[in-house]
Amino acid sequence: MIPLMNLKRQYVDVRDDVRDAVDRVLESGVYTLGPEVDSFERAFAEYCGVNHAVAVNSGTSALHLALLAAGVGRGDEVVTSPLTFVATAAAIDYCGATPVFVDVEPDFYTLDPLKLEAAINHKTKAVIPVHLHGQAAEIRAIAEVCERRAVRLIEDAAQAHGTEYGLARAGSFGAMGCFSFYPGKNLGAYGEGGAVVTNDVNLAERVSLLRDWGSKTKYNYVAKGFNYRLESLQAAILSVKLKHLEGWTAQRIEKAEAYTTLLSQREDFILPKVRPNTRHVFHVYSIRVKRRQEFMNYMRENGVATAIHYPSPLHLLSIYSSLGYKKGDFPVSEMLAQEFVSLPICPYIDDSELLTVVGSALAFSGS
Ligand SMILES: *Cc1c(COP(=O)(O)O)cnc(C)c1O
Repeated sequence: MIPLMNLKRQYVDVRDDVRDAVDRVLESGVYTLGPEVDSFERAFAEYCGVNHAVAVNSGTSALHLALLAAGVGRGDEVVTSPLTFVATAAAIDYCGATPVFVDVEPDFYTLDPLKLEAAINHKTKAVIPVHLHGQAAEIRAIAEVCERRAVRLIEDAAQAHGTEYGLARAGSFGAMGCFSFYPGKNLGAYGEGGAVVTNDVNLAERVSLLRDWGSKTKYNYVAKGFNYRLESLQAAILSVKLKHLEGWTAQRIEKAEAYTTLLSQREDFILPKVRPNTRHVFHVYSIRVKRRQEFMNYMRENGVATAIHYPSPLHLLSIYSSLGYKKGDFPVSEMLAQEFVSLPICPYIDDSELLTVVGSALAFSGS
């Protein structure tokens, strides 16, 4: 079976450096936060082109703390896309605020800036565009609306390490950018991790305070905080892997371009488009197929794993039924959620595997 991603192959490439890093941490006697986390934060901030990164224990925690640092609380509204992983809305919920959804652009699958303004009212505190699958949201237009309406722009960049819009990188456009280092993400820990990046020193200090119990010095609590600390081991591993990220990203883009070239003869598939003037980092390579279940069964019979990112837009999940949305509210997201099929993509899928995926997809008829 050709898997969606091959993390075991990636490990072989970083094994020696990871083992050295793990040893160094274990010998150091410091196992959470500390110098390994500090140095990863400096390196990751530089990678994103921002002044500060604050590492936390997951992407979900990053979103939660970014929202709290932005002053989001009970009774507030936060606008986001319904076509995202559940964590985006969950983090809004954790603050006691209400997620308000805005449909996505049909070509690029990210929050539609033309529909944004109508969703903003006096309760709106923040907007969270999601750089879905590694595609940059239309960040310039979104930022313009946020600025005019005086709401905070927080990027969900959990799938977008190294995504570029113009010359700048995801995470650097808004007040804050939130990343996940879940193992399968483009930069993944060997466990959980996340980060908030920002150019604003006050926001960085606030997030840093909240991740460690709101205490400036031990037992001196100046805010109600959390245990959202990143482990030193994960930081040391992430520092090793960060050095490979540009190379891995180039590999992903190369694989995605090969898929797009080879699959373009199927006029019944809709292939991912890349927004002009941006770098899509292809965390996910998702095509659109009308007879999706048949297609996925056929691929599995031919030894190819596929997945759906994501099978339901958030407004139709039963856990969010109290928000009062119904089928038909966000037709673009609903259509995409029915048609999306993710093909295997990672820096370590080899040419023969890629050709097997393509061959099976081209051979699918289902007629
Ligand atoms: C992975 C992901 C998250 C959550 O990150 P975790 O590290 O799993 O908590 C949030 N938003 C999006 C879009 C994601 O893909």
